[in-house]
Amino acid sequence: MATTISQAWQRYRSVQLVYRIAVAFVLGSIVGLLVGQRATVLQPLGDLFVRLLKMIIVPIVVFTIVMASRQLSPSNLGKIGSQVVVVYLLTTAIAIGVGLLVSNLLDPGVGLQLTDGSVSPEDAPPLLDVLLGVVPENPIGAMAEGNILGVITFSLVFGIGMTTVREEVEEGSDVYNGIETLFNVIEAGAEVMFKVVWGVMEYGVIGVFALMAALFGQTGAGAIVDLLMLVVTLTAAVGIQIGVVYLLFIVTLLLGQSPLAFLRGCKDAMVTALSIRSSTGTLPVTMSNADDNLQINEGIYSFSLPLGATINMDGTAMYLGIAAIFTANIVDVHLTIAQQLSILLTALLASVGTAGVPGASLVMMSVVFSQVGLPLSAVAMIAGIDPLLDRLRTMNNITGDLAVTALVAKWNDAIDLSSGAWDS
Ligand code: ASP
Repeated sequence: MATTISQAWQRYRSVQLVYRIAVAFVLGSIVGLLVGQRATVLQPLGDLFVRLLKMIIVPIVVFTIVMASRQLSPSNLGKIGSQVVVVYLLTTAIAIGVGLLVSNLLDPGVGLQLTDGSVSPEDAPPLLDVLLGVVPENPIGAMAEGNILGVITFSLVFGIGMTTVREEVEEGSDVYNGIETLFNVIEAGAEVMFKVVWGVMEYGVIGVFALMAALFGQTGAGAIVDLLMLVVTLTAAVGIQIGVVYLLFIVTLLLGQSPLAFLRGCKDAMVTALSIRSSTGTLPVTMSNADDNLQINEGIYSFSLPLGATINMDGTAMYLGIAAIFTANIVDVHLTIAQQLSILLTALLASVGTAGVPGASLVMMSVVFSQVGLPLSAVAMIAGIDPLLDRLRTMNNITGDLAVTALVAKWNDAIDLSSGAWDS
């Protein structure tokens, strides 16, 4: 008996977590549809998942953002490095804008009703307050109050401060060693938090099941259409970002090259990203495409692509914005311009801290939702279809890295555009 249970457990664990969550999502939905209102007794199991998500937000933000800023040392940020970072941030901000625009037009989630909405239009802070709120008056207060944007800013500033001081002091000095130790401690903290996230997501199988059962118990089958609308919205936004921002604007107008040649050059990386859902995992292919197909100098891509796989996540950032609008629609709340700006800023910075691994956005989604007070139970709902959405946004992420790398390479005469690879 004991061996049968342990074998079943082993078999269960051998299935990737995201797929287990997807199955829980489907089963929970079916149970909700079959049982109706009575399925809401499962709600507390879902609420527990939401509390667990809330618990990990502040530490995960602090650790991951400080670690991401480790890459932004003054020596990395020379002329080329700064160009790369600025264009990365710019394209990410545009991506979120595209995501917000498309979701405002398509209105995914309208009609679906989730009862625990905690946002009300009165909660909306004025635009200026959102901008000022980026800088917390008191970092510890920001952590305690859940002012996520403030926590992100402080972590970023603190991380950049650490890298700057480390470069200024003598190697081996006490301060240098102290900073190295601090980075190691923070890296260890990040590792620990990823373990905790993993544990929370393991429980997420039950949490998602319960939340979906309760949701479908209340709403009936209509929720399926709304979730499909989320897929449609992200697909449209990714299409615009790749088609207009990368292919038309960067490749055709700024590089003066054929979009088809660019796509041909990136296709291996794009297909790999679609299949493995990880920018970091795709990195070797992205680098080889930059070298062999796009004819970019190693001096540029060897810096910009690993950096991009860590901090430049256009698809992810866009997705965070879309998910926020979707959720606001679910709880029947109209987000003001100030709240959307707040989403833009939080998603931009949160995407910098998102790891290039499958499903990483889900944690960052909790970060963005907390910032504007959206219910985290929606994260559980979206988690069920995440394996599909993750493919699209990861493909977008690495295509953005390659487009920006090619552009910066052109500005610095580090790309051979006359080679046959760029022929249309
Ligand atoms: N899977 C994405 C990537 O690796 C990150 C995410 O959005 O979850 O780029």
